[in-house]
Parts: sequence; C-alpha cells; structure tokens
Amino acid sequence: MTTTARPLAPLPKAHLHLHLEGAMRPSTLAELCRSQGTALPVISARYGTFADFQELYLEARHSLRTVDLLVRLVGEVVADAAADGAVWIEPAVHLPGHRGLGTDAEVLDILVDAGRRATEATGVGVGWLLSSDRTLPPELALDQATLAAAHAGDGVVSFGLANDEAAGAPEPFGPAFAVARAAGIISAPHAGEHGGPDSVRGALDALGADRIQHGVRCVEDSGLVGRLADEQICLDVCPTSNVALSVVPALQSHPLPRLLDAGVPCSINADDPLLFGRQVAGEARDAVRTHPDAAVGDFNFFEDVRFWELVLLALRCLGLIRTQGRDVDQSSNAGVHAGMRDDGSAVGVADQDDRTADASECADGRVDVAFQRVQAVLRSHHLVTLGL
Ligand SMILES: [Zn+2]
Repeated sequence: MTTTARPLAPLPKAHLHLHLEGAMRPSTLAELCRSQGTALPVISARYGTFADFQELYLEARHSLRTVDLLVRLVGEVVADAAADGAVWIEPAVHLPGHRGLGTDAEVLDILVDAGRRATEATGVGVGWLLSSDRTLPPELALDQATLAAAHAGDGVVSFGLANDEAAGAPEPFGPAFAVARAAGIISAPHAGEHGGPDSVRGALDALGADRIQHGVRCVEDSGLVGRLADEQICLDVCPTSNVALSVVPALQSHPLPRLLDAGVPCSINADDPLLFGRQVAGEARDAVRTHPDAAVGDFNFFEDVRFWELVLLALRCLGLIRTQGRDVDQSSNAGVHAGMRDDGSAVGVADQDDRTADASECADGRVDVAFQRVQAVLRSHHLVTLGL
C-alpha cells in the first residue's frame, strides 16, 4: 500500500476538549513551583487512579496565584495551539477554582479579555467552555450555567460537566444545562469515560448533549453507538488520556476507528497536554500510526484520509452548531459549509460528498490531488484557507 508522510501540524484543527490548567506548559509549571517554593509534580505516562491525576491537575491550578499568571497562561495556551496548527480552541475552565483571584464573573471577564488579545496576536479563535463540577451540588452548576448564558455570544460558547463520573450522574444537572442551552450555548458534558453507556445516555437525555467529551465507552452498547451516529453527536475523543487513565488498555485497542466506521462524528483532542504529554497534532499522529496497516513513521494512505475526516468533522461540528441562526451558508451544494467566527473570519469545511470524492481519489494513489482538491474547494468559496 502506498504511504505518504505529511507534517500534521499545519493542518487546520479545532481543539474542542482541552482543560485550561491542564494545558499549562511544563516549563511554566516548573518555573512557578520554583518561585513559589512548592514541589514539582511528577508527570507520568499513566495515573493509577483518577484521584492521582486530579491531584496534579489541582497543583497546576493552585500555582495560578495572581491575575497576571492567569493571563499569561491563556496567552501561552493559545500560542501553543497556534504552533500546533489549531484554528479554534475551546478551553474548559471551572471558574470557582480561581476565586482567590476574584468573583466568577470577574475571572470570566479576565479570561475572555485575555483570549481576545491572544486571538488578535495569533489568529486562533478562542471560545470558552464553562465547566461545572459533578461532585458538587447541582445548584452550583446552575449558577455557572446562568453566568454562561449571560455571556452567550460574548466569549462563552459551551457548557460542560467534569470531574469523576463515579461521583456524579448527569441527571441532577439537567436544569443547569437547560439554562445554558436556552441561551444558545453548546451542551458538551463529559460522559462515557469512567462511566459506562448509562452516563452517555444521561448526557443525551438529561443534558441535551450536542457534543460529548470522551463518550468512548458508548462502544459497550451497540444500540447507543447507532443512536450517536443517527443523531450525529460528536464525541470529543482524547486517546492518550484514555490510556493514561486506563479507560482503554492501549492506543492500539482504542475504539476511535470503530466509532468512525459506525458513523459517529469524532473530534480528536489532547484533554490535558501538561499531564498527558501531547498536543492535538501529536494525538492525530498517534491515531494515524496505530492503525494496523500503518507503517511506523509514515502515514497509512487510507488513514491519512481518515485523519482528514477527523479534521473536517471537528470543524463541521464547530461551525454548524455554533453558527445556528447566524450567517451560515448550509445550503451550498458545492460541498462546503461556511460559518463565521466571533471575530468575523470564516471557517469553511468540505462536506460528506467531498470526503467521499477524496477517499476515492486516494484509493488511486493520488493523495496530493485530494489534498489540493480540498484546498481548491475552500479557496473557490473565498473562505480562509485555514493555514493549508
Ligand atoms: Zn476532559
């Protein structure tokens, strides 16, 4: 089989499952620990329990002791995303974790402002995902949802539910998600990571999930996989995180290929680059190489196209959901969906027909033709070329 190698960093990516503090640079954490006189946490390839992992996460959060450090973190996260080829990121933040720096509303204003300045500097769009904590009372999540709703279209794009699934089922958080969704905010809770199919069903039925962060344990129920495919619910999948936290035993057995084969839209993400050692391009590289037909160091031909699908699906899910009711050309029959970001720039995405065409071209061994074709489609619609 023909193979081709292509740098993945320049391909346009939407990074939809990324926790702000978990995206801190290791060098920044080391610097802060030194200056604050605290022990440097040990980053590991695997974490014994969710609690072990969470302890490290909280140490990174606790190192953000001033507003300047929080602003610096946002700037570094967005700069790293730009270097990694992301065109859009949705960092998740649990605002009450930063009450030492101000009220939730004040901290959100700081983040939104820092995100906007980072966008101006890099061109990477930033939409905040306000996260609620499933181990805390649902009334507190309602407060967060109310704040998210007040900032809908003003920096906040999505609402989440995080922390240990074993400690909190989705259902009690339904009222909070209803408030966020009524304001046009994307519902993007964690589910199907440490929880099984019931947690995914709960995210769909009680929280009206538009996207599910992780969701991979849906594979334990084929009917549920079919439902996710039918309803085109995007799973924001994080393969390395799943291995590090023993959700799956190894990358080689990750259900991502099965999910895609079943027609479930999936985006590929890094979750917490600080703790798992990968940015999104690295995740993609691993996903490509772990296909059984792939040669190490090369990209398998079919899987290279499959990676294109991942890129396009992530952007499509972003564009189509975020731009509901706004200036969107979804009627185009030329194979491109167009959406507008908050800063007014366009996001263009080739649709199903074009992916099919690309796949058939690649089967003939002309991957560069397919690559150029997508470029041409985007350019012909006067859309930004997203760094292609
Ligand atoms: Zn996560």
